[in-house]
Amino acid sequence: MADMTQQPPVAIIGGGLGGLSAAIHLRVKGYPVTIFEANERLGGRANRIEADGFAFDTGPSLLNYPWVFRNVFEIAGKRMEDYVELLPVEPAVAFQWEDGTRLQLTSEMDQLVQAFAKVEPGSGPGLQRFFADAGAKYDLAFQKLVNRNADSPLDWARAMSFAEMAKLGLWRSLYGEVGRFFKSPHIREALGAYGMYLGGSPFDLPGFFSILAYGELAYGLWLPKNGIYGLVEGLERLVRELGVEVHTNAPVDRILTRNGRACGLQMVSGETHEFPIVLSNVDACTTDLHLLRDEPIIEARRKKALRTRQTPGVLTFYWGVKGHIKGVGHHTIFLPDTYRESFDDLFKNKQIPRGLPFYTAAASETDPTLAPEGDTTLFVLVPTPVLSHLNGYDWDRGVETIKAQVIERMQAHGADLTPERIVHEQVYTPGDWKDRFGLYDGSAFGSAHTLFQLGPWRARNYASELPGMYYVGASTTPGTGMPMVMLSGAQVADRIAAHAH
Ligand SMILES: Cc1cc2nc3c(=O)[nH]c(=O)nc-3n(C[C@H](O)[C@H](O)[C@H](O)COP(=O)(O)OP(=O)(O)OC[C@H]3O[C@@H](n4cnc5c(N)ncnc54)[C@H](O)[C@@H]3O)c2cc1C
Repeated sequence: MADMTQQPPVAIIGGGLGGLSAAIHLRVKGYPVTIFEANERLGGRANRIEADGFAFDTGPSLLNYPWVFRNVFEIAGKRMEDYVELLPVEPAVAFQWEDGTRLQLTSEMDQLVQAFAKVEPGSGPGLQRFFADAGAKYDLAFQKLVNRNADSPLDWARAMSFAEMAKLGLWRSLYGEVGRFFKSPHIREALGAYGMYLGGSPFDLPGFFSILAYGELAYGLWLPKNGIYGLVEGLERLVRELGVEVHTNAPVDRILTRNGRACGLQMVSGETHEFPIVLSNVDACTTDLHLLRDEPIIEARRKKALRTRQTPGVLTFYWGVKGHIKGVGHHTIFLPDTYRESFDDLFKNKQIPRGLPFYTAAASETDPTLAPEGDTTLFVLVPTPVLSHLNGYDWDRGVETIKAQVIERMQAHGADLTPERIVHEQVYTPGDWKDRFGLYDGSAFGSAHTLFQLGPWRARNYASELPGMYYVGASTTPGTGMPMVMLSGAQVADRIAAHAH
């Protein structure tokens, strides 16, 4: 580890995965680091609810690209295996349509070929070409784009040849990109459905994002032992071993500035702390619009934040279910027959989709210790528009209606789930997500990933107008999702170190 006496101290606001990753990278570079987290636990959206013997992960449930997490431990000279045990989730995600079609994904190639052939006979060669194409995009993304800071489109242009740039499929839609390999609307819909979490319809988002489905199929899907929160616990242990000072129940009210520089924090309690470097893990738009609300120097950033397109909100249910639920695997995505209309409802018509797409995770299928013996933890995620698009929505009624729709739809596909079997229930509306974690407009995944909100066009991880002010997490570069926010921590640590010279 570098000499600690050399580097200025850094305050990190928020102990989400981005903040934890940044803390590790900065500590390894020799910076003294203090984390101020508003909630009682670290992890941010990747949090934990414990009740009646059930343990629920609040947010992320699908972990892929495991090597990204392994690297964070290795950078600190540790082995991830000594902190976090990763359990393979096999088979992976299943897609279920109203018409009864089911597509079970798996990273076992022979079984995958058979599963695709059931939905689209003769799709084998298309699947092979898809793997070659999306694999090339994936390699380019990780070798040249997402693991380094890029300030202008020129930086991207310098990193890649024109032929490589063309391969990324940035100018084709995700749905169109997938359509180059498969005729079946079901396969196209399944591989395009990941767009929901990136903040756009697969008919609008760049084809580049075929790497999401590819990454899951080629490198598998994982669950840390003890749930996703097991990863947070492993990272927290490492952070503390590295000597990071951690304050929980420590909400920050505003970022202080002096002589055109960030210079510290004012806590909600009124206390102030001086720091020459402030790194916000709070959503970047919330940081600019709320924590830096009186700072005139960053007016341009604030205007940009107001124009930024956001990913959807989510309504999430945490159900402790008595017994095992027949016909429900670990991960299932339920898609409506009105696929395109659902995306239009979400992003254009600004209403909860009438044909309801939703996702369920029964993590106790992979790690039974998450529920009392023989019982099931069931997480249900329903995408919704962001809060400002749902003014006046009656959430009390909405939650009951949606709950009934979800159960009815699951039953229609053979799940023996009834309301009586739900012995524990918690619900987070988009408003709860906003209030608990500071998510701007209740957007669950942060700023969207439209072409002009990617890479050099995405909110930068530093405020050029306000020296000493940095950002980490889902709404800055490279983007949302657990692996990306881990990389975001590495990028911002590089940035801070580069600015010191
Ligand atoms: C329901 C849901 C499902 C998801 N599913 C997946 C998935 O399956 N796979 C995947 O890879 N990703 C998934 N994601 C996305 C993933 O969770 C996020 O991209 C990632 O966790 C964001 O981490 P972060 O560090 O950027 O932010 P956060 O986790 O939001 O961390 C920010 C931290 O700042 C704290 N904070 C906020 N305001 C203040 C303040 N004023 N003072 C002090 N602290 C403050 C918050 O409490 C929080 O701890 C999901 C997200 C959600 C919401």
